[in-house]
Amino acid sequence: MSKLSIRDLDLAGKRVFIRVDFNVPLENGKVADDTRITAAIPTIQYAIDKGARVILTSHLGRPKGQRNPKYSLKPVAEHLSKLLGKPVAFANDCVGEEAAKVVGAMKDGDIALLENLRFHPEEEANDPKFAEQLASLCDVYVNDAFGAAHRAHASTEGITKFVKQSAAGFLMERELRYLLEALSKPRRPFVVILGGAKVSDKIQVIENLLKSADAVLIGGAMAYTFLKARGLETGKSLVEADKTELASQLEAKAKERGVNLQLPVDHVVAANPDDGANAKTVSVEATPADKMGLDIGEATRKAYSDIIASAQTIIWNGPMGMFEKPPFDRGTRAVAQAVAEASEKNNATSIIGGGDSVAAIHESGLADKITHISTGGGATLELLAGDTLPGVAALSDK
Ligand code: AMP
Repeated sequence: MSKLSIRDLDLAGKRVFIRVDFNVPLENGKVADDTRITAAIPTIQYAIDKGARVILTSHLGRPKGQRNPKYSLKPVAEHLSKLLGKPVAFANDCVGEEAAKVVGAMKDGDIALLENLRFHPEEEANDPKFAEQLASLCDVYVNDAFGAAHRAHASTEGITKFVKQSAAGFLMERELRYLLEALSKPRRPFVVILGGAKVSDKIQVIENLLKSADAVLIGGAMAYTFLKARGLETGKSLVEADKTELASQLEAKAKERGVNLQLPVDHVVAANPDDGANAKTVSVEATPADKMGLDIGEATRKAYSDIIASAQTIIWNGPMGMFEKPPFDRGTRAVAQAVAEASEKNNATSIIGGGDSVAAIHESGLADKITHISTGGGATLELLAGDTLPGVAALSDK
């Protein structure tokens, strides 16, 4: 990577501002899922071991620029303290006297978490004065919040203008290494699986991947815009009518470039998502006008699994159907199984991103077979679309 790494910094006795992604779900004032917290621990532990004074900051939820106890990071400080087995000081504000007092009292090896950055509207507005206030708390800056790196906010971008050195943390480095390596020099065949609700969210991703992928397998509701573009009856399935033209163009581009772009050949249809009991599998050429497609069918599961089994590099983003509502979870589970098997049996590099596909792989108990499970949703999609992330661009060059 061309950017400074935390490894390049002299941390002893320094106040290190680490922007982490502690945007975790809370239930009854407790952390309900600590995946994002544990993902940042290698960076935090490294800084502690080097004798730094570790200042952690994050956003949580969408408090819309206002102080709201529902989105306080206090429970996260308590949870982190348990994970690290040492005290984590908590400051009730991320700037001003409160923050300065807590940071001022720190000794080498201490750790503090500051309150939710988004209690201040200046964070998302990337206000330079606010960024300068954040910077005044520290000597060096580290960004380990991959999940927030696609946003140019005060804590991810603005702050870097007011500190001498800005470096990537270990999680940030790992995310970038896996995703960028897969895109720039994939071991082949390189197979990409895309699903989810909307094709409009993923047009740029498909365009960019047509440059490097050998096969693109499309599932989920987004497949219906492509099927409609082919002139097929799609019944009550979700279609983005204003994107059919684009879907045709993408199919033509794939053909021109020799990319194997696959659409479902059969699917599971029902009157609505709650009518699972009457679900039926039909060919995509025989969709009843009064039914909606809610999952890929058996023949498609088999065809996609076979292509995945031949892959050496796999990227998967988005569910194959409405997987939250069984029986419409079978396509997503089959893909999870196929990706895990390719990783285990063929030593394929597998990368999974996006909340739903990540949830599906965890629920299937196959997470430990996957090479890299990305912590970013929007950030992962932007990288896959070939965009530069503002939070990465802002880091100091090596
Ligand atoms: P996204 O946020 O674009 O990745 O979309 C994820 C959502 O797409 C999930 O909540 C799925 O339930 C939904 N989804 C996937 N396939 C279908 C489908 N065939 N019909 C309706 N919703 C779907």
